[in-house]
Amino acid sequence: MLKKLLIANRGEIAVRIIRACRELGINTVAIYSEADRYALHTQMADEAICVGGPSSKDSYLNMANILSACVLTQCEGIHPGFGFLSENPKFAKMCKECNIKFIGPDYEVIELMGDKARAREIMKKSNIPVVPGYEGEINSYTDALEIANNIGFPVMIKAAAGGGGKGIRIVRDTSEFKYNYEAAKLESKSCFGEDKVYIEKYIEKPRHIEFQILADEFGNIVHLGERECSLQRNNQKVLEEAPSSFLDDKLRNEMGKVAIRAAKAVNYKNAGTIEFLVDKNGEFYFMEMNTRIQVEHPITEMITNIDIVKEQLKIASGIKLEFTQEDINISGHAIECRINAEDPKNNFRPCPGVISELYVPSGLGVRVDSAIFCGYEIPPYYDSMIGKLITYGDNRENAIIKMKRALAEFAIGGVTTNIDFQYEILEHKDFINGDYNTSFIEEKLVNNNA
Ligand code: ADP
Ligand code: ADP
Ligand code: MG
Repeated sequence: MLKKLLIANRGEIAVRIIRACRELGINTVAIYSEADRYALHTQMADEAICVGGPSSKDSYLNMANILSACVLTQCEGIHPGFGFLSENPKFAKMCKECNIKFIGPDYEVIELMGDKARAREIMKKSNIPVVPGYEGEINSYTDALEIANNIGFPVMIKAAAGGGGKGIRIVRDTSEFKYNYEAAKLESKSCFGEDKVYIEKYIEKPRHIEFQILADEFGNIVHLGERECSLQRNNQKVLEEAPSSFLDDKLRNEMGKVAIRAAKAVNYKNAGTIEFLVDKNGEFYFMEMNTRIQVEHPITEMITNIDIVKEQLKIASGIKLEFTQEDINISGHAIECRINAEDPKNNFRPCPGVISELYVPSGLGVRVDSAIFCGYEIPPYYDSMIGKLITYGDNRENAIIKMKRALAEFAIGGVTTNIDFQYEILEHKDFINGDYNTSFIEEKLVNNNA
């Protein structure tokens, strides 16, 4: 087992990783920016080292400083969490060159899957169904328009380097194409430093259903079932649940097998997620692979009783998976609500500030993954997600009852949050019936909320 690990992240995921390390007897080193001197992850780790100024580019994205911190503190490995450097192949490669174990797949795989157009190409070659579309080179606007016409409107223009729902544009007809094509390229350039895009058929009102994969370094691959992530705003997940009430066992098995085949096609190692779009007829298509731990991993942990972060650390330490696909039992139902410091009544504007009062729910079947405490100042420099509330019940109905109870108990003073908005989702009859798709929030909640 690794003895000492640097955590190249902040917030709740850094705390989550420190917890797993504690249980495995791994010593931890946190990195922090000048804005995070008093953050929970900084205090909780065995050691903490400042890597730069408040802005991400000076600290949590500062590869030279992070690697220096790792060498100085004699860490054997780096866990990148999600966001920041987690899907940066250059960083993973530098780790390898410095003889530091990067907790994730090989950098070549991160690079391949990070270019979502190339990922489509590889999956197509392996006979994995992908969303109808075009992933080849696009040289000009006229080329792009011809491609879109061939696919048939509506289409989606997507940044090849995209993530976090950015650089994505829906185009319903030719007249809107030019503007959206240029906007997608510009957004991609500013968010990801490059403007390569690809074009997919826009699937109307699909479900986003993803499979959690675990793969060791000896070629053993299992999946831990699916997560239903269709509740989104601006293509960003808001609430997730597992299992999906849309899948029957037949479709679940079929998709699980395809997910494993997709991971095998790239010789995948460590934890990863295969995201699919599923249309109303149950046709499913590969959308992308995330080569990292996912925000919503706790709901899978609750229904499988497998600690995914610990598994990541064991796999990276060269330990074989201790279970096969047949050993994995899915039982009960779990829901996660992302708790964001934002104002749903004001176009979800981020609301940083000091948490002046805090009461965190608990009790049987309630889990809170967060890094907040009373007196904590949420800095304005990073993502507005401040925690995740997860509930578990023996069935979906009971998981919903628990989530409503826990949301009602959760009291965060001093900053505005989306807790009431999450409650509204849980009370909506279509949610209760499991009758929803990726358009639900924008169609049924946000527009009625303004
Ligand atoms: P997940 O895919 O794990 O459900 P998200 O797509 O919302 O979660 O992304 C995880 C986190 O990482 C979010 O906080 C998001 O803002 C951030 N993130 C995702 N992709 C990128 C990226 N390419 N660049 C910067 N931040 C990203
Ligand atoms: P990101 O890398 O930002 O997570 P994804 O490719 O995973 O980007 O897409 C994000 C979300 O956008 C999906 O979860 C889905 O809701 C929506 N989406 C993406 N592609 C399509 C498509 N072809 N048709 C309909 N919706 C899509
Ligand atoms: Mg995605």
